[in-house]
Amino acid sequence: MQRVCVLGASGSIGLSTLDVIARHPDRFALESASAYSNVDAMLEICLAHDPSEVVMVCEQSAESLQNALRATQCRTKVFSGAEALEEIASAEGVDVVMAAIVGAAGLAPNLSAVRAGKRVLLANKESLVMSGELFMKEAASSGSLLLPIDSEHNAIFQCLPDRYRCGTPVESCVKRILLTASGGPFRGFDRSALARVTPAEACKHPNWSMGQKISVDSASLMNKGLELIEACWLFDVLPSKVDVHVHPESVIHSMVEYSDGSVLAQMGNPDMRTPIAYGMAWPDRIDAGVGPLDLFQIAQLNFERPDYNAFPCLRIAEEAFLSGGTSCAILNAANEVAVEAFLKGNIGFLDIPDIIERTLGAVPKQEAVTIDCVIDADRQARESATSFLSQVKRH
Ligand code: NAD
Ligand code: MG
Repeated sequence: MQRVCVLGASGSIGLSTLDVIARHPDRFALESASAYSNVDAMLEICLAHDPSEVVMVCEQSAESLQNALRATQCRTKVFSGAEALEEIASAEGVDVVMAAIVGAAGLAPNLSAVRAGKRVLLANKESLVMSGELFMKEAASSGSLLLPIDSEHNAIFQCLPDRYRCGTPVESCVKRILLTASGGPFRGFDRSALARVTPAEACKHPNWSMGQKISVDSASLMNKGLELIEACWLFDVLPSKVDVHVHPESVIHSMVEYSDGSVLAQMGNPDMRTPIAYGMAWPDRIDAGVGPLDLFQIAQLNFERPDYNAFPCLRIAEEAFLSGGTSCAILNAANEVAVEAFLKGNIGFLDIPDIIERTLGAVPKQEAVTIDCVIDADRQARESATSFLSQVKRH
């Protein structure tokens, strides 16, 4: 029996993970879970899975949950505060940690799980973008098994030889990684059309149902930029070995090209339960509740080059990776600030790359030698990006 900790249990990935767990009560049990403040979702999770402990980051929500649980048979212990996330992620009774908190808030608990040598199912790409080198070093030294959940990286992992483990360089017979992108809801838009898009339109992804932040990232192609960085750390390659292919059907989740000319692709319906079930059961395969792929219905698979002019985030992310040090932490923090402001209607869609570039220009890059350096860069970038927000508003 694998005992699972689901960080970010109330979110899109978290709930899909709980769905997979519920399908396999003989293999998996929910040991612990976390949410920021969604009491109703966590109450339902407690009643369905009876975890030993849960964390509500928001103190008031923890109290409300505690009160609601008193009226039930459920014996789940409730904790609050961000530090408690690190405790449940590294607790002795946990074998597997699903890292599905959104954004930089996932960094500390994910690292704690990695340091404790858990099997870490990495959905939260932001933590790896911020601190890739340190994160991968910690995983190597603790022996933590890192399995990518992001559908593209999960696909790449599936297309690499069985003996391959994340954090080691891919063999020289791997010529290219073909990272697919749906193109998001604004594929084909030019800059004048992008200037007018709304948060609701940005969150309406054509193929995937996801949390708001990653939906906006997908619309700006920053998601692909973050994924390019994620791929470089997970598979120990340079961006020159990773080619982004826009593939609007989201049926091929990514590909690996070998020196003999073979290109291996992983395909499936766009449903995150496939990569989640793969990561949970690896090296076995289990039912994920995902319907069969109907290629007759899909009929066509299309590919386009990304439009770097309309969607500059992809270039900005690649440059940040090549610049190294704390650049990617600065990039990530500026993006989080800009996306939140866009979702609140405070800035326009095209202000997102603008604020990120200005922040990268304003915050001095440092060596990312310790996690404290990374956290400091994150803080400085948030301050700087926030100051640029107010300048946008005045226009
Ligand atoms: P979501 O917004 O649906 O859920 C986020 C979860 O994080 C929630 O449980 C929320 O309570 C928790 N959370 C939010 N802020 C927090 C904070 N400050 N401290 C602690 N917990 C906090 O997001 P999602 O779509 O499930 O995405 C989660 C992660 O997985 C992201 O990093 C995203 O990039 C990645 N991812 C998601 C998908 C997808 O299909 N949704 C695909 C690939 C990767
Ligand atoms: Mg992805």
